[in-house]
Amino acid sequence: MKERIAVIGGGYAGFAAAVTLAAAGRSVTVFEAARTLGGRARRVEAYGTTMDNGAHILLGAYRQTLALLRIVHGAGAEDDLLDRRRLALEQPGVFRLRTMALPSPWHIAAALFTMRGVPRAERLAAIAFVRGLGRRRFRCPQDMTVAALLSESPPRVTALLWEPLCLAALNTPIETASAQVFLNVLRLTFAKHARDSDLLFPRVDLSTLFPDAAAAYVADRGGDIRRGCAVRRVVALSDGIAITSGYLEETFANAVIAAGPHQAKRLVQEADPQTHAALDTVSFEPIVTVYLKYPLALPFDRPMYKLDGWPGQWVFDRGVLDGPDGLAAVVISTSVPGARVSHEALAQAIDAQLRRHWPDLSAPEWSQVIAERRATYACVAGLKRPAPGMIAPGLYLAGDYTDPELPATLEAATRSGVAAAQALLGHR
Ligand SMILES: Cc1cc2nc3c(=O)[nH]c(=O)nc-3n(C[C@H](O)[C@H](O)[C@H](O)COP(=O)(O)OP(=O)(O)OC[C@H]3O[C@@H](n4cnc5c(N)ncnc54)[C@H](O)[C@@H]3O)c2cc1C
Repeated sequence: MKERIAVIGGGYAGFAAAVTLAAAGRSVTVFEAARTLGGRARRVEAYGTTMDNGAHILLGAYRQTLALLRIVHGAGAEDDLLDRRRLALEQPGVFRLRTMALPSPWHIAAALFTMRGVPRAERLAAIAFVRGLGRRRFRCPQDMTVAALLSESPPRVTALLWEPLCLAALNTPIETASAQVFLNVLRLTFAKHARDSDLLFPRVDLSTLFPDAAAAYVADRGGDIRRGCAVRRVVALSDGIAITSGYLEETFANAVIAAGPHQAKRLVQEADPQTHAALDTVSFEPIVTVYLKYPLALPFDRPMYKLDGWPGQWVFDRGVLDGPDGLAAVVISTSVPGARVSHEALAQAIDAQLRRHWPDLSAPEWSQVIAERRATYACVAGLKRPAPGMIAPGLYLAGDYTDPELPATLEAATRSGVAAAQALLGHR
C-alpha cells in the first residue's frame, strides 16, 4: 500500500502541494476546515449571486499558478478562466498609466512617459527612478521601508502610482512596508517579459479557478478530500505524523501544513517550537470588499478603475467578467479610517463615492460587505518569516507567508506549496 501524505489546508498553497504530490503518484489526503475550498481565495454565495470573498487579480508573471491551472484544467484552459489585459491603471479624470505593446523594459518606460495627470518633468524623474532601481538590481537593505525607498520619487508619482501599487501588492502601508519585497514585485512584474505585467482577471469564481479542479485532480489519482474537517493536533512521531481531526487520530508518513500563519502557529506548536515562535511575530492586515448591485450595467470601459481612496481604492466591474451586469466590487486594503464603520454605513459611503465619479448610477438593489480581518500578513520591513519545506522529520510547511520573495499572493501560495511538495519528494 502507498504511504499516505496529509495536506492540512485546502487553500491555493495546500492544493499546489497536493497536486504536485498526486502528480508524482503519492496518495494524498487533504484536510480543509471549511466546506468551501480556497481559503482566502474562495467562492461566496449571497443574494442568489456567486461572488468571491474578495476581488483578486493575477499577473502575467504568476508562472507557478498558471502552470498549475494548465495541469488541473488542461493546456488550453487559460483563456476561458482568465481575462488577460495589458496593464492599465486609470482614475477617471485624474490619472492614467498604460503599458505599451513594446518589449520590456520599453513597455513600462513608455507607460511612465505617457502617464496622464503627471507633468513631464515628473514623468522623466519617474523613469530615472525606475532605471535607478534596475541599476541596483532591485536590491536594498532588508530593513528599508517603501516610504524610505520612495523618498527619491516625485511625491505626485508616489501618491498616484507607487503608494496605491504598494497597498495593492503588499497590503501594507508604505510607512512600514518592506522595500525589498516591493522591489521583488516590481522586478517580477516589469524587468523580464512585457507580458509579465499583464493583468489577469478571473472569469470564474476563485474556488472554481483552482481549488475545486485541483481537488478533482487529486481525487482522480486516489486522493481523499475531506471538507469541513479541521485538524486539531499534529505530532511528529519517530515513524510518521499523527494527525487528530475531530475524535479521530491517524498516522501519515508525512504531512504538509498549509494553513494561514495564525492557524499554522497552533498546529506546529508541539512539532517545532522554533517555527511557532517565528509565527508569533507575524501581524496581519485586513481587506474589505464591498459589493454593490446596480440595476443596469456599469458605465465602465474596463474591468477595473482606481478610486480616490475615500474610502474605496479600486472598483471592479464583475459584469465584464463572470458576474451579472451592474455588480461592482470595491476593494479597501489595509485598515483605513473611512472603513472602520458599520457595514451598512460603509456600503452607503462606497455608493456615494462611486456616484462622485459616475453620477448617473441608479440606487443599488443590494449590498454585501465582506471583511477579511486577517487577509494577509503585514509585509513589514525586516520581518523574518519561515521558509517553505521541512520543519521536523516528515513534517513540511507551506503557505503564502513562507515564500521568501513575494508578499501574500496567490503566486506566493502556489510557489510555497510546490516547494514544500518538492522538498518532501526529494527527501525520500
Ligand atoms: C480580500 C483578499 C484579496 C486578495 N487579493 C489578492 C489579489 O488580488 N491577488 C493575489 O495574488 N492575492 C490576493 N490575496 C491574497 C491571497 O488570497 C492569499 O495570499 C492566498 O489565498 C493564501 O493562500 P494560502 O493557501 O497560503 O492560505 P489560505 O488561503 O489561508 O489557506 C489556508 C487554508 O487552511 C485551512 N485551515 C486552517 N487551519 C486548518 C486546520 N486546523 N485544519 C484544516 N484546515 C485548516 C483554512 O480554512 C484555509 O482554507 C487576497 C486576499 C484577500 C483575503
